[in-house]
Amino acid sequence: STKPEPMPIKKLSENVINKIAAGEIIQRPASALKELIENCLDAAATSIRVTVKDGGLKLLQIQDNGSGIRKADLPILAERFTTSKLSTFSDLSKISTYGFRGEALASMSHVAHLTVITKTKADGCAWKASYSDGALVDSKTGQKVDPRPCAGNDGTTITIEDLFYNTPTRLAAIRSPSEEYARILDVVTKYAIHNPHVAFLCKKSGSSSPELSTPSSSNIANAIKLLYGNSVAKELLDCDVHSGPAGRGQKSAGGQDRLDDEAMDIDEDEDAQASFDKPRSWMAKAYFTNPNYQAKKFVFLLFINHRLVESARMKRAMEAAYQTIMPKGASPFMYLSLQIDPRAVDVNVHPTKREVHFLNEEDITDQIADAVQEKLAEKGQSRAYEYHQ
Ligand code: ADP
Ligand code: MG
Repeated sequence: STKPEPMPIKKLSENVINKIAAGEIIQRPASALKELIENCLDAAATSIRVTVKDGGLKLLQIQDNGSGIRKADLPILAERFTTSKLSTFSDLSKISTYGFRGEALASMSHVAHLTVITKTKADGCAWKASYSDGALVDSKTGQKVDPRPCAGNDGTTITIEDLFYNTPTRLAAIRSPSEEYARILDVVTKYAIHNPHVAFLCKKSGSSSPELSTPSSSNIANAIKLLYGNSVAKELLDCDVHSGPAGRGQKSAGGQDRLDDEAMDIDEDEDAQASFDKPRSWMAKAYFTNPNYQAKKFVFLLFINHRLVESARMKRAMEAAYQTIMPKGASPFMYLSLQIDPRAVDVNVHPTKREVHFLNEEDITDQIADAVQEKLAEKGQSRAYEYHQ
């Protein structure tokens, strides 16, 4: 047989490279939204409003009251690898913001029509800019153009229109706008629970009644009640676990059984969060249902260093903690927030940052599962005691 002639190796054009990268980061409307919400939180917003049309395919708009973007930064805003959050590689090991790669807005400009309206406190008016393929353009003519002054409040509004208009295979893979809207609501719900000091709103374009609306200055337990209902909230337990002096897990005293606003106030945790003086130190806070609550599917909200992530290992371990006390086929609800010394976490495994790896993963997981199990057992005993009295 004759061997084929080798083909010449050529460098891909910038545009092709950027489209491929964009496809990795923006898989669907909900993944775009996750990046946008994280940007709002990085900008210290206390109000985040999401408006959606056709499951986010036609329109995905997110308005915040955060820091805004400096007008001078607008020309490079949607270029790849432009960020205000990271400058040296070693910064990565102490990163405390969600973003750091400067790829999200760039990606969006490659697979959608992106428009930004933003105003900082110092600005006299807001500025509006539209982007295509990383660069500023006029949204109507497609020609290069400078940002335009316009009316607007402090903060930033980002509008994504016609997502995947130029990547038909990606568009075809998305089954239904209502499924996409459900995913969007799920992302907003989870971030709203983890950030109860921020008011979240999510609605369909043209509708006057939002599907989701939370107040600011709430707490996690109340947010769970508001968004997952009283059936979950009335059966909630909680526990705190953290690394001890020798690196062993310890349970905090004062974990309470009942829904108690004071005891569950997130602010307590936030104060404690900031410094990790000992390397490898960690702390976890969990809210989870007792066996009275039985769902068909395990609802597991996992935040590692405030980032919504997935971990099959942690999920399995938490489910296993319920194995002996729940009937087969019944599942609990659990919210788990784990904070680890940033030096022990590698957030850079994947562009979507959805998967994170950290040191002592197995050990930490076991210690949290043990604490959950212990709390469940305590609860079980006090029930049995009440019953026999
Ligand atoms: P990254 O978050 O990794 O820095 P992004 O592409 O998500 O990259 O955003 C690029 C930059 O745009 C950010 O570093 C930030 O300075 C700015 N930015 C994006 N969204 C907002 C927002 N909602 N409010 C203020 N600044 C923002
Ligand atoms: Mg970002």
